[in-house]
Amino acid sequence: MSTLRPSPITPTVDFERDGVQHGFLRLPYSRDDSAWGSVMIPICVVRNGRGPAALLTGGNHGDEYEGPLALYELARTLDPKDVSGTVIIVPAMNYPAFRAGTRTSPIDKGNMNRSFPGRPDGTVTEKIADYFQRELLPRADIVFDFHSGGKTLDFVPFCAAHTLPDKAQEKKAFAAVEAFSAPFSMRMTEIDTVGMYDTAAEEMGKVFVTTELGGGGTSRAETVRIARRGVLNVLRHGGIVAGAVEKGRTQWLDMPSGDCFAFAEDDGMIETIVDLGERVDEGQVVARIHSTGRTGVAPQEIKARMSGLLAARHFPGLVKAGDCVSVFAVEVD
Ligand SMILES: [Zn+2]
Repeated sequence: MSTLRPSPITPTVDFERDGVQHGFLRLPYSRDDSAWGSVMIPICVVRNGRGPAALLTGGNHGDEYEGPLALYELARTLDPKDVSGTVIIVPAMNYPAFRAGTRTSPIDKGNMNRSFPGRPDGTVTEKIADYFQRELLPRADIVFDFHSGGKTLDFVPFCAAHTLPDKAQEKKAFAAVEAFSAPFSMRMTEIDTVGMYDTAAEEMGKVFVTTELGGGGTSRAETVRIARRGVLNVLRHGGIVAGAVEKGRTQWLDMPSGDCFAFAEDDGMIETIVDLGERVDEGQVVARIHSTGRTGVAPQEIKARMSGLLAARHFPGLVKAGDCVSVFAVEVD
C-alpha cells in the first residue's frame, strides 16, 4: 500500500464526462507575487464513450516546440464525434519551463524527464510528475510524449520507442511508431533511464511512444507538419480517432549501444563536418572542437564510433566538456 499523501493538484476537468473540455491542472504555488497562487497547467479532455484512452504530452522540456504546436492545435480542432474513447491532451507538461522557454523549470530547476515518479510533497516539478504517475498514466492505454532537441541539440525527425523486456508491449509500441510515419523511426537507447516519464509509463505496461523532431529551440514547417500528421496517425492506429492512417515512407534506425553517443572532452567552438542525416563510417571525423583561448592549438577531433548516419548533433556554436556532440544510428530494415 502506498503511504503517499494525495496530490495537491486539482483538475478543473472531469475525465469521465463526454465532449470537449478545456481546463487546467491547478497546482498551488505560494510565492512572493501571489501568496495563495497556483500554477495553471492547460489540459484538454476529448471523450466519446467507453474505449481506449490516449495521453498526449508536449513541453516535457520547455524549449521544444513541435509537440506544443501539434497539441494546442489538436485540442482546438479534435471533434468528439470522431473519437471513440478518451484523448487527454497536456500540450505543455512542464508549464513553468514552457513559459520560460527553458528545458528545466525556472522555479526549481527540475527536469521533468528526470523527476519520475515524482513526489506529492516535493518541488513543483516533482508534484507535476507525481500527478502524471498516479493520476494520468493509469488512465491511459497509449502514452505519447513529444520531444525535440531543445536549444542544445538538433535531430533528424524521428518517432521512437524503446526495446523492452515484454516483447508484446514492445511490438505494440513499434507498430504505433510505424503508424506515426515520421521520415525516420527509431529503436531508441537512452543514456540514463532513471527518472524518465518513458520508463514510468513502460513499467506500468503502457504503449509508450515518443519523438525527437528537430531542435535548436525552435521548430520548422516540415517538423510541425510531421508532428501534426503523426499524432493523428497514432490515434487512428489505436482506434481512438476515426479514419485511415496516412502512411508515409519511414526509414527504421537502431541505436545498438552506447557507441551511438560522442561527447566533447574540451570546451571550445564546434565545427560540424557532417550534416544531419549524412552517412558516416566508423572512425570518420564528424566534428572538430577548436580551442579559443589561444591560437596555434590543434582541434579535438570527434570521430564516429560506429558506421551509420548522424541522427543528432550539438546545436549551439560553443561546446563544453561533457556535452553530447553527436548521436549516430544504424539503418535497419
Ligand atoms: Zn525533450
